Parts: sequence; C-alpha cells; structure tokens
Amino acid sequence: MRILVVEDERKTAAYLQRGLEENGFVVDLATRGDDGLNLLRTIAYDVVILDVMLPGLDGWALVAAVRQEGRQTPVLFLTACDSVDDRVKGLELGADDYLVKPFAFSELLARVRSLLRRCPARQPQTVRVADLEIDLLRHRASRAGQRLDLTPKEFALLSLLARRTGEVLSRTLIAEQVWDVNFDSDTNVVDVHVRRLRAKADDPFDQKLIHTVRGVGYVLEERG
Ligand code: CA
Repeated sequence: MRILVVEDERKTAAYLQRGLEENGFVVDLATRGDDGLNLLRTIAYDVVILDVMLPGLDGWALVAAVRQEGRQTPVLFLTACDSVDDRVKGLELGADDYLVKPFAFSELLARVRSLLRRCPARQPQTVRVADLEIDLLRHRASRAGQRLDLTPKEFALLSLLARRTGEVLSRTLIAEQVWDVNFDSDTNVVDVHVRRLRAKADDPFDQKLIHTVRGVGYVLEERG
C-alpha cells in the first residue's frame, strides 16, 4: 500500500517515512503543497497524510482541490492547530480524520489502518492465491497456515505480485510500485529481492508460485 506524506518539517517527515516503511508501506514524500498535489494527480495513493501549514499550497487548499477534482483518496490531517474551528474546517473541506501534533506514532498507525478499513475502495483486505494468504492491513503473509517472516520490502513485493496474480510485471513496474518515486531504478535490486522472497515464500514449499518470464519480468500464479 502506498502513502503520500506532505510535510515541510524535515524531521517529522523523515520520522513518518521511516515508521511507515518499517510497517510495510511504500511512502512518497512531498515537502511542498503544490508538489503534493502533482503527485496525487499522477499516482494512486491509498492514504494521504497532510500537514496544514505548507509552502506552495496549504493543506486546506490542497484537500479542497483534490476533492473538487473528484479524488476520493482518504486524507489524514496533521495539525498543530488545536482549535475546534481548525479541525472542523479540515473535515468540512473533505479530510477524513485529523491528528493533533505532537502525536504518538502508534496512534498515527492506528488512524491510518482505520482509514484503510473504512475506505477499502481500491482493494480487498485479504488476498489468497493457492495456499498463500496475505493480510494487507496487518502486513502478514502465510503459506499453508505457516507465517512467513518477511522484511517490509519483501512483503510489499509479494503483495504486489499477489494482487495482480496472473499478470506479468516488468522489473521497471515493480521498482516503481515497491520503491518510492525517487528510487534510482536499478532493476537488479528487484532481482535480488525476488530471490530473497522466493527463498522464504517458495523454496520451502512444493508448489512454486513466483515464476520468471524471461526478458520480461515476474508473475505470481498457480500452475498445474
Ligand atoms: Ca508545516
């Protein structure tokens, strides 16, 4: 799942990005409101975490523009303004939830998961292919009931392949989806991660699910 963080305070932004990535999300960062809006217009995010006071375009104007364009991406406001008026304003403009700074990361994570549960428009919570089961919200994967111990990147990679089962995904597409927009797309990194993922999710099992399509990329599917 992909999250956009729009926050101009570098320390907070880095803290959010690191924490969310550790929990298996793919995170893009914008430090200006107008950059955030451009990213929202080109990439389908599952959640946006939005600061209010931002250079370029403030959080209120950003959420108003996004809603005016008909985008339903769930928005969580991060606000230092602890006044009822500010919170009401944010919610009226189309934000789905807000959190007052300073906040505990565990609370932010709980709010993000709750938004994803309330707005499951884009994807189901669980994906199953053969004996593989992935819980996208809890970031857990298992095969034949056996929990797979995956790193956040391995989990993101496995979820991408499983959500698009039967579809051959190119290394470039995988790099774009699993790493952030600033990732220097050295596609060897994809091969290395697929190899590590296979060692955990495929090698110990009789039925292989991840297949290489020579010259193209990878596909996850059940083969007879
Ligand atoms: Ca700010």
